[in-house]
Amino acid sequence: MRVLVAGGAGYIGSVVTAALVADGHEVTVLDDLSTGHADAVVEGARLAQVSLHDSAPVLADVRPDAVLHFAARSLVAVSQQQPEDYWSTNVAGSLALLEAMRAVDCRRIVFSSTAATYGEPDQVPIREDAPTRPTNTYGASKLAVDHMLTSYAVAHGFAAVSLRYFNVAGAAFGLGERHATETHLIPLALQVAAGQRESLTVFGRDYPTPDGTCIRDYVHVGDLSDAHLLALSAPSAGEHRIYNLGNGTGFSVQEVVDAAREVTGHEIPTVDGPRRPGDPAQLVASSDLIRADLGWTPRHTDLVGIVRDAWDVAR
Ligand code: UDP
Repeated sequence: MRVLVAGGAGYIGSVVTAALVADGHEVTVLDDLSTGHADAVVEGARLAQVSLHDSAPVLADVRPDAVLHFAARSLVAVSQQQPEDYWSTNVAGSLALLEAMRAVDCRRIVFSSTAATYGEPDQVPIREDAPTRPTNTYGASKLAVDHMLTSYAVAHGFAAVSLRYFNVAGAAFGLGERHATETHLIPLALQVAAGQRESLTVFGRDYPTPDGTCIRDYVHVGDLSDAHLLALSAPSAGEHRIYNLGNGTGFSVQEVVDAAREVTGHEIPTVDGPRRPGDPAQLVASSDLIRADLGWTPRHTDLVGIVRDAWDVAR
């Protein structure tokens, strides 16, 4: 298949690009490198350094059979301070991409959505029919694109899948997380172990959870990548499917710190800080739907293994 990967120079997009190339697909990465890295694009894939807003000529040239769309701003706190950037890149940029697809009659897309579309859940594990009440602009912007895809499926015959990621972690194909502004727990803990930071701040120990720290569902990037390849051919024209992607088990911040200590052999000093605004106590996915529909089964459900894979490429 001829595939265009928007955001294929970022963490998850680069892993999926590597998997597509390994599977024999013809891959073009479209990425403006605002947060991605050219050297994360595997050999065998072509890189077009172009933003979503200017994607039309690239699509006209490539004429892809399908698009995987990872390109986005993804920092929750920044989305609250600079919402314009989130509406512009995530929403207007996605609209430009969908229109560029329509112009070349490419109507198959897999989109990176997020658990942040649900906001504070009434129930965990979170199913796809849970209410969507995002608590920040990042989640709202991703939800807007999910709505956009539903209407493009109905009106324009798009075959679309939104994958709502929970906490993506680990590494595959030698590619891990490399953000200029790192906010995620596992890479931050590993930066302490690597001597790049003094300590890790634990954001709140007074949550209603067994050890008082927040619980999240850490899904391995390799498993996530498998889901994209399955999703690519799943929907028919006129269908927009939405699937949650998590490994179905929650781990607390303290358990992540303990796993990072075990993997690295470093004591990883922690400092107790206040709660981070907008952090729900517990976010765990029900991934029953994608398991039943597409036969997706996560292979890396052990937290220590996930952290070890991240550590192996971080050093
Ligand atoms: N967290 C923390 N210290 C940090 C970064 C994150 O205690 O320096 C906590 C955060 O409050 C949340 C969990 O780790 O409960 C996962 O946060 P992350 O930013 O990795 O992902 P999120 O769940 O926000 O998408």
